[in-house]
Amino acid sequence: VEDHIMKMREVVDVKKYFESKEFQDLYNYDGKLGSIYSKNKTKFILWAPTAEEVKIAFYGKDPYNYTCEAKKVVRMDKDIKGTWTLEVEGDLSGEFYNYIVNIDREEKELVDPYAKAVGVNGNRSMVVDLYSTNPDGWNEDKKPELKSWTDTIIYEVHVRDFTIDESSGVEVNLRGKFKGFIQDKTPLNHLKEMGFTHIHLLPAFDYGSVDETKLHIPQFNWGYDPKNYNVPEGSYSTNPYKGEVRIKEFKELVQKLHKEGLRVVMDVVYNHTYDLNSFLNLAVPKYYYREDEEGNYTDGSACGNETASDRYMFRKYMVDSVVYWAKEYHIDGFRFDLMGLHDIETMKEIREELDKIDKSIIVYGEGWAGGATPLPEDKAALKKNTFKYDEMQIAAFSDDCRDGIKGHVFYEEEAGFINGGEGLEEAIKFAVVASTKHPEVDVNKAMYSREFWANEPYQTVTYASAHDNLTLWDKIQTVSKDLSEDELIKMNKLSAAIVLTSQGISFIHAGEEIARTKEDEEGRLIENSFESSDYVNKIRWYRREKYKDLMEYYKGLIKLRKTYKAFRMDSNKDINDNIKFLENGKEFTDSNVVAYILNTKGKIDEKNDILVIFNSNNKDVQVNIPHRKWSLVVNEEKAGIDEIREITDYRLNVKAKSAYVLIAK
Ligand code: CA
Repeated sequence: VEDHIMKMREVVDVKKYFESKEFQDLYNYDGKLGSIYSKNKTKFILWAPTAEEVKIAFYGKDPYNYTCEAKKVVRMDKDIKGTWTLEVEGDLSGEFYNYIVNIDREEKELVDPYAKAVGVNGNRSMVVDLYSTNPDGWNEDKKPELKSWTDTIIYEVHVRDFTIDESSGVEVNLRGKFKGFIQDKTPLNHLKEMGFTHIHLLPAFDYGSVDETKLHIPQFNWGYDPKNYNVPEGSYSTNPYKGEVRIKEFKELVQKLHKEGLRVVMDVVYNHTYDLNSFLNLAVPKYYYREDEEGNYTDGSACGNETASDRYMFRKYMVDSVVYWAKEYHIDGFRFDLMGLHDIETMKEIREELDKIDKSIIVYGEGWAGGATPLPEDKAALKKNTFKYDEMQIAAFSDDCRDGIKGHVFYEEEAGFINGGEGLEEAIKFAVVASTKHPEVDVNKAMYSREFWANEPYQTVTYASAHDNLTLWDKIQTVSKDLSEDELIKMNKLSAAIVLTSQGISFIHAGEEIARTKEDEEGRLIENSFESSDYVNKIRWYRREKYKDLMEYYKGLIKLRKTYKAFRMDSNKDINDNIKFLENGKEFTDSNVVAYILNTKGKIDEKNDILVIFNSNNKDVQVNIPHRKWSLVVNEEKAGIDEIREITDYRLNVKAKSAYVLIAK
């Protein structure tokens, strides 16, 4: 037994040892890991510095015999920097294998943490010839153009929700699958019709909560329980047993969406693992997780554990994983779950590595944690630390904007600007400028923040709702129980208008545009539907007919946003130069009104100034506007780029609960 292992046994404080210079000098490793395949041999490399012995169990190539005994067990050689290696001759593509790690004379079997392919339920790693998983034309796959990060309009959707309802029109056996997602049916046509630029998929990597051997029984989960980080989820494939199928089918999804002009964002969940029996923890116990001073695992994710991005080899793991998805699967963006649990340095390194591949890849995440964490606040990728990225494109979700618009996500009855909240004008103005510094916005009256936390507009995700909490429609219903549906739709339209005319990266939760509800069979509105039934979660495409007017309104706003650069300025400087707010007491005399002129210097759009007015009152208001010829393109009924009517008045009557947009002629 080597010295360091003896030492490990003596060391009471493993945490201190992992963080010591001695350990890092000995074991921080920068090379490749996993199974490195070529036609005539495969090399296996595992990082396991605390192991006394590591073996590989080979299980043969039959994907359906997934509980068979090992055909062969081979010892690995101790190599540099805590790695163990083995080279095997021959074409191993399709071979299932696991590592057997011996620590303190106890043997544990684990899937390769760097597995690129796995068998059913992700319980065995598989060697894969990735080239053979490329769909036809994969080398010619081209990302749709994205000139500017702020051109991004994201649609956040769950793979299964998207097509599982029969109204999707998708072939029955492909509903809920990657393949169904890209059928030329209602859901995909809807995406194209609406004009989104990015499709953000809820976890599409391999997660643990759905049993892939029982797919004949309906099962649902959002998927925030990572099992294998570098492999697509098996239940979304047409065959979860054969490791290559899910890989190919996910690539086909990316390829098809690219062809249709849509970019693809993956939701990545590196902040915690399904449980503490993760393959990472079996390989190097305790290394990949944070602990408190007493040596107990901490739970900053509220999911039972939290990983340690600030440890060298987990930072490397995250970077390697993101780079792998970007290169191998042509992924165009990453949404980091509980990004506030990662450290700033890791996020910067990820951004730098992505820049080397393609600067247009977008990065954004939740700038908060799920609970108490030992990660020092000043080092955490929290929303309030966004300014520390300087000009890097790493964005945080603006909960200031989200809750300012429609009310607090946890206090269900609490209203926001659109549904009766008072004193939220500055919260909306803060959203308009994408949380970047602006002299006419009083940050002390913003929703939560007391600082302009973003340096640049591409660091803010502007949104009203996401998969978490009540849907926008359900929140609106809950706050305003006694109002007619027509009144609720006005609020929904006003919300859409605020999101899609404000600066920053736009983000829409799937179904917002067709008044998506998550009502269960008993009529309860489900606010956390992560393991609810299909009934609760499925997108009901027939609502496209019923809520056509609302849908057209969203569509029109997206078109408007895409037509005028002034809605998606690239810098805080441009925003400062080109947004001028009208003032209560000057141009109007009512509270609950936000109005501003865009493009004031005429340099952003060749076309002229744009006037935007939000009135959340239950009554019409009068606003004095610059006297000239305007085209009204958005009002309480319609939104788009076509003139609804010409306006030449000094004084404009703005209808109750509405947004108006006027383009100077
Ligand atoms: Ca799975």
